[in-house]
Amino acid sequence: MPEVVFRVDQSKSMRDQDVPGHNRWHPDIPAAVTVRPGSEVRIESREWMDGQVVNDDSANDIRDLDLNVNHMLSGPIAVEGAEPGDLIVVDILDIGPVPQETGAVAGQGWGYTGIFARGNGGGFLTDWYPDPCKAIWDFHGQMATSRHIPGVRFTGITHPGLFGSAPSADMLARWNRREQALIDTDPDKVPPLALPPEPTEVLAGTLTGSDLERVGREGARTVPPRENGGNQDIKNFSRGSRVFMPVYVPGGLLSTGDLHFSQGDGEITFCGAIEMGGFLDVHLDLIKGGMEKYGVTTNPIFMPGNVEPRYDEFISFIGISVDHQTDTNHHLDATLAYRNAVLNGIEYLKKFGYTGEQAYLLLGTAPIEGRLSGVVDIPNACCSLYLPTAIFDFDVRPTADGPVRADRGQCATAD
Ligand code: ZN
Repeated sequence: MPEVVFRVDQSKSMRDQDVPGHNRWHPDIPAAVTVRPGSEVRIESREWMDGQVVNDDSANDIRDLDLNVNHMLSGPIAVEGAEPGDLIVVDILDIGPVPQETGAVAGQGWGYTGIFARGNGGGFLTDWYPDPCKAIWDFHGQMATSRHIPGVRFTGITHPGLFGSAPSADMLARWNRREQALIDTDPDKVPPLALPPEPTEVLAGTLTGSDLERVGREGARTVPPRENGGNQDIKNFSRGSRVFMPVYVPGGLLSTGDLHFSQGDGEITFCGAIEMGGFLDVHLDLIKGGMEKYGVTTNPIFMPGNVEPRYDEFISFIGISVDHQTDTNHHLDATLAYRNAVLNGIEYLKKFGYTGEQAYLLLGTAPIEGRLSGVVDIPNACCSLYLPTAIFDFDVRPTADGPVRADRGQCATAD
């Protein structure tokens, strides 16, 4: 086993660890550890909400989640010799959940998916499914099942939803300016257009006092992906991947967290993957001056790994950039097109006895492929969603006999 350079006791909050992590992006959050290029190391991780969600049959915890806590990240990890303009080469060697024997503590040996309430984060289909819901997932080696979504069993593509390097002070100021400008276009929108810096529940490693207050005032929220990587939620950013991380500050200051046992393309419910605590093993190296050498001006590049489930038959749902409720045409809006593909998939699965919420949670977590099929055929963008048929224990394909409808229960709901 590689040396554990960031250790997490899963019975405690990230705040109470010997070396705490952080939940904002800021260049002044001090490195938790420094490692040499060429090292293989293990990073342990809390699930993204620091254990607020429990393994039960009520979604009251999802309803009451404090979103100012996220994401609880492990790090920062400084790489010796890394300077702005370099690329840090990260080989993702292994990823896994916390072993189950430690009991029913949050994020241990099991995972969860949730639908956030519209007034508390929302999600991709918040106008259709505004109420909180939850599904608990049990792990069987590489397979996941849920008592809240019976009839499915699938192999996860396990990955860190979030992996990033620290922004420079200049870059952070630009993020805050442009995101505030977006918020200002519709400041009262629910859910909001973006999340400005938030001083409550801020954690910045060992910083205290006025240093911690400054991070609360200036630190960027960890929800969106940005030039530093961050919360990209790319399901194929998985075991075996080689990632090239841009360096914006001395040491690079890498952080990770938000481990996902499995996720569909789009992570549509927002709390949308199978969220878990666990570990990430990486090998770290350096390409000096790599950003200029390879034309990397913003964002990481990566080579996906070779480990993924082999599903070879899919049923695909298609969406176009039309608001079908009002029959309004939008111009090449791929987000709207993907939303329609998802809605079409949900309507289909409802015919087999699933509730809309169960189908929504399933399409967020199973290894579905989301594809940008056409973005030039004016006025309609076209997106497609590929659902593997083999994950169901019944025949989900359309036939002349019609769908086999069964009582498939319900996901956990709130009072
Ligand atoms: Zn996540």
